[in-house]
Amino acid sequence: MAFEGLAERLQGTLKKIRGKGKVNEQDVKEMMREVRLALLEADVNFKVVKKFIADVKERAIGEEVLDSLTPGQQVIKVVNEELTKLMGGEQSKIAVSQKPPTVIMMVGLQGAGKTTTTGKLANHLRKKHNRNPLMVAADIYRPAAIKQLETLGKQLSMPVFSLGDQVSPVDIAKQAMAKAKEDHHDYVLIDTAGRLHVDNELMDELVQIKEATSPDEILLVVDAMTGQDAVNVAESFNEQLGITGAILTKLDGDTRGGAAISVKAVTDTPIKFAGVGEKIDALEPFHPERMASRILG
Ligand code: GDP
Repeated sequence: MAFEGLAERLQGTLKKIRGKGKVNEQDVKEMMREVRLALLEADVNFKVVKKFIADVKERAIGEEVLDSLTPGQQVIKVVNEELTKLMGGEQSKIAVSQKPPTVIMMVGLQGAGKTTTTGKLANHLRKKHNRNPLMVAADIYRPAAIKQLETLGKQLSMPVFSLGDQVSPVDIAKQAMAKAKEDHHDYVLIDTAGRLHVDNELMDELVQIKEATSPDEILLVVDAMTGQDAVNVAESFNEQLGITGAILTKLDGDTRGGAAISVKAVTDTPIKFAGVGEKIDALEPFHPERMASRILG
C-alpha cells in the first residue's frame, strides 16, 4: 500500500515527542527537520513541504502548545490537522447537477487509469448512489480504449456510447449528450484521450469537449506512481483546462505516494477518489482525515 514508508518514518519521528512531559522550541524544530526529510523522501513536492513545515512550526510554537499539559500530544495533533488540511480537509463529494445529467469529464495522461476509472466510477455511482450513468468512449486515439470501455460496460451491464474512432471526440461528446437526455441518464462520464505527455493538441481538444458539454466535474486521473511528474501534469491540466478534482490511481502499488498528496496543494482542488486495485470495485472515496490518521498512526 502507498504511504507505507512515509507512515513508518513519521510514526518513528513522532514517537520521540509523544510522551515528553516538556517540549521546547528546539525539540519541535528537530522533529520538523525529520518530518521534512520524510516528506521529501516520500516524494512530496518541495514547495508543498516547505509550506507545510512552516505552517506546523508556526502553530506548534505559537499556539501555547508547548506550555500545555501534554505538549507532545498537542504537537502531534497539530501535525495531524495540517496533514489533513494538506490532503484536502473535508471529504469532497462528487457533483450533482441541479439539471441532469451531471456531466463528468475524465482527463489525464495515457496509462494513468482513465478508462478503468471511468468504469469504476460508473459502478460506484450506480451501487452507492443508485444512479444510471452513460459512459462515453471519446478516446479515439488509443487503439484499445473504446473496446476496453465497451468490455467494462458489458461486465457491468451498463451502456457505453461509442461512434467508433472515425468521428471526432467533440462530436462524440455532443451526440452522447443528446443520447443521455433521450434515455434519461442522470450522469454522463466521458472517457477522453490521453497522450504520453501534455501537448497543445490534446488540450485544445479537451477544451472543445468542455465547451460542448459544460461539465460539472473535470476529474484529473493521476497515477500515484509517477512521482514529481504528477505534479507538473496536474499543474498544466489545471492551468489550461481547469480541473475540479483528482482521482489518484494505483495507491495499492508499492509507491511512495507523496507526489499524489501534492496534487491537492498545487491545484487547490480536492482529491475525490483513490484507485486501489485493478478490479472494478477497487475505488474508494478519498477521506483526508482518515488518510492522515493512517499515515501518522
Ligand atoms: P488510460 O490509458 O488512462 O485509460 O489507462 P487504463 O485505464 O487503460 O489503465 C492503465 C493500467 O492501469 C491498466 O492495466 C489498469 O488495470 C491499471 N490500473 C488503473 N487503475 C489502477 C489502480 O487503482 N490500481 C492498479 N493496481 N492498477 C490500476
